[in-house]
Amino acid sequence: MTEKLEALKNRLARVIDLQHAAAVLSWDQEVNMPDNGVGPRSDQLATLASMAHEIFTSGETAGLLEAAEAEVAGMDYDSDEASLARVTRRMFDQQTKLPADLVLRESKATSHAFVAWRKARETNDYPVFEPHLAELVDIQVEKAECLGYREHPYDALLDLFETGITTAQVQTLFDDLKAGLVPLVREIAERPETDSSFLEDNAFDQQKQWDFTLLLLRDIGYDFTRGRQDRAPHPFTIEFGNSDVRVTTRIHEANPRSAIFGSVHEGGHALYELGSPDKFERTLLAGGATLGVHESQSRLWENQVARSVPFWRYYYPILRAFFPEQLGSVSMSQFHRAINKVKPSLIRVEADEVTYNLHIFVRFELEQALITGGLRVTDIPDAWNSKYEEYLGVTPPNDALGCLQDIHWSHGTIGYFPTYSLGNLMSAQIYAQAKQDLPGLEDGFSRGDFAPLLSWLRERIHGHGRKFTARELMKREFKVELGAQPLLKYLREKYTELYEL
Ligand code: ZN
Repeated sequence: MTEKLEALKNRLARVIDLQHAAAVLSWDQEVNMPDNGVGPRSDQLATLASMAHEIFTSGETAGLLEAAEAEVAGMDYDSDEASLARVTRRMFDQQTKLPADLVLRESKATSHAFVAWRKARETNDYPVFEPHLAELVDIQVEKAECLGYREHPYDALLDLFETGITTAQVQTLFDDLKAGLVPLVREIAERPETDSSFLEDNAFDQQKQWDFTLLLLRDIGYDFTRGRQDRAPHPFTIEFGNSDVRVTTRIHEANPRSAIFGSVHEGGHALYELGSPDKFERTLLAGGATLGVHESQSRLWENQVARSVPFWRYYYPILRAFFPEQLGSVSMSQFHRAINKVKPSLIRVEADEVTYNLHIFVRFELEQALITGGLRVTDIPDAWNSKYEEYLGVTPPNDALGCLQDIHWSHGTIGYFPTYSLGNLMSAQIYAQAKQDLPGLEDGFSRGDFAPLLSWLRERIHGHGRKFTARELMKREFKVELGAQPLLKYLREKYTELYEL
């Protein structure tokens, strides 16, 4: 019946296998590989990337795709068949615009850049990373030109991560968000500072932190027979199909928040990948819709769930049993206030929910300037520091705590950061609907029961795989357009109570 589509699927399954094999090598590079392994590793990754690109963009794939499109013409837009043809077409058109040598150069450059970035961050030495970043920015500029765009070269790169959204649309959403966040941050700053010293002045045993994160992951529904957790300098989730989805976390002895919220965040990403239906395996419909939707899942678990009172009603006694010396005299409510403390800070991944998006605004502006040539790579540290002063009122004392903090540029990913804020916006829209649909949802959290939320997310979001864009998904499932107001409302309510505004 859908013979041609099946033939296309079989061909593209090989591309997916190559991509997953490359993902295993990338995972190893970030988790286990000794620094000097980078030479052969970059060749291996580049070979796999070229092979995948070659098969995907070949004349044979083009022929199969055309035939499959003819076969599914007239089928329902939402059907698996039409969706597969549509998503494949979109990616095919994108990939065929990229010359093979550009794909090869990008893959090689990123492997080396990652190692240089890690070293630069460890030794607080931006010049070590600078030439690599300059090369990657050039590649991204070239890529934007190959892909094409209507208004802004940044549109072309943004579209790789968040299909269908433009720089101008993101700017409008961010302006709305900024208009609500700036007064909220100011009002909170006028209130007495929350005491979180017990989380900063104590040493929290690393093994115990690790054990606690494993318990959290298990409880929210992460399946350790289909995944594992490891340590990495910059936490991430990676999947090699829906039966092997791995997470990473980082542990700071002097700050248990890092591991706790890092693990739950990555756990949220992993639940999404694990919830991708079996029928989509080894096709382009497997996995998450867009990076923004992906981030909505991680942020929802990290913030709406794991920074809530009901959550800690259940977990605080457990955490206190792990750390009786450090937390014995700290009440649940003191702890809850401390993990929700709002304070403009230097590090994005450690930022509170209110100031988090300000970190994204900085990157969004700098990246656009880098792509249009308005900012030179050598001037990034200064530009970064002055944007931090402008948005957050803090100045990084060094580049490790400034422009070297994120891994993304070492992967050559420019246009990715806005998806974090888009994810935050969507997480509030999705969670508001979950609360309506699931009475007693948060009472369940105080018993350590997250199953109703997970099955609701499976049905409303995870089960669609990559069929829809963020906008399509939000309209279809939640009858909403992307907007800043639900997030602002959620933050305003939560922090009015916490800070007695
Ligand atoms: Zn994330």
